[in-house]
Amino acid sequence: MARWQNILKQAITAPKDLPVGLQPFMPESGAVADQYPMRINTYYLNLIKEKGDPLWLQAVPQPQELHDQVCVADPLDEENLSPVANLVHKYPDRVLFLVTSQCAMYCRFCTRKRKVGTASMVISDDTIHAGLNYIRTHPEIKDVLISGGDPLLLSDDRLDWLLSSIRAIPSVEIIRIGSRVPCTLPMRITAKLCRILKKYHPLYINTHFNHPDEITAEASLACKRLADVGIPLGCQTVLLKGVNDDATIMATLMRKLLTIRVKPYYLFQGDLTRGTNHFRTTIETGQKIMQQLIGHTSGMAVPTYAVDGPDGAGKIPLTPNYIESLGKQLCFTNYQGKTCFYDNGG
Ligand SMILES: *Cc1c(COP(=O)(O)O)cnc(C)c1O
Ligand code: SF4
Repeated sequence: MARWQNILKQAITAPKDLPVGLQPFMPESGAVADQYPMRINTYYLNLIKEKGDPLWLQAVPQPQELHDQVCVADPLDEENLSPVANLVHKYPDRVLFLVTSQCAMYCRFCTRKRKVGTASMVISDDTIHAGLNYIRTHPEIKDVLISGGDPLLLSDDRLDWLLSSIRAIPSVEIIRIGSRVPCTLPMRITAKLCRILKKYHPLYINTHFNHPDEITAEASLACKRLADVGIPLGCQTVLLKGVNDDATIMATLMRKLLTIRVKPYYLFQGDLTRGTNHFRTTIETGQKIMQQLIGHTSGMAVPTYAVDGPDGAGKIPLTPNYIESLGKQLCFTNYQGKTCFYDNGG
């Protein structure tokens, strides 16, 4: 058994099995983990410094998950936008293809919390073949985004087969993998895995880090291995209350990502997913954080801040507004808040 498989096997799946100092605040958390699965592997557990810290918050079930009166199970209407099970076709030229229900850790804020890691998310040879067939018969699909769950939890052989099957479809131009493994189980990024992945270029990986403490030597090595086989790496961070809703923490995270060769891609406003309301913060907070990134730090470190609109509306950019007025003279404020003018011509 590979080292990463061993680490996964030893993962903690019930709050009562956590070290005493890290157990959640209320006895009800056992019931939370029954409804929404818990998995904290020993690698990520060791990164948690204390109860209530930003990594603990992402990993440990809390009673609030069962008392969410605001949010809904499937806010992005993914089930209705799936022409075949586990394939979401929302945008004209790309699809989201869910290929496993398993993750290296079950994030408490997961947008697909309704099904990820549960028995209700059924992925089988049949659903995979139906997905492949849908892509094959819809040549308008140019970009296949493999997600789940976490696709990099599939075995090397399974992944090799899946990627070669997608690559064999002539109309598919790019393949993307969405994976939190470089952050939550970086030892999964083995030399052998990289040898498989590099056969399927152009292949992109968007990973998911939310806090600077997640950028460890192991995570750095995982990203180096992927980048060294030519895979461009992006990051899809989620804005989370108590985790990263702070301009200094966010700037540190974004800059550290660049040092491990990961380009910040999106910063997501929290989805209205049932059980995650306690993680949400306002769009005003997100825009203030963006204003303190834009211009103040490398443009390379600035992601697109976006909300995934309810009911399948798609991702909508929430970039702070710099334009005061448009017309013959454009009036705007710069990153320092100074009023500037630009002759718009016309
Ligand atoms: C986010 C998402 C995509 C990809 O969107 P990009 O803006 O191209 O990264 C595609 N399909 C679905 C259903 C999505 O939720
Ligand atoms: S790794 Fe992604 S899909 Fe899995 S639980 Fe975390 S946010 Fe959800």
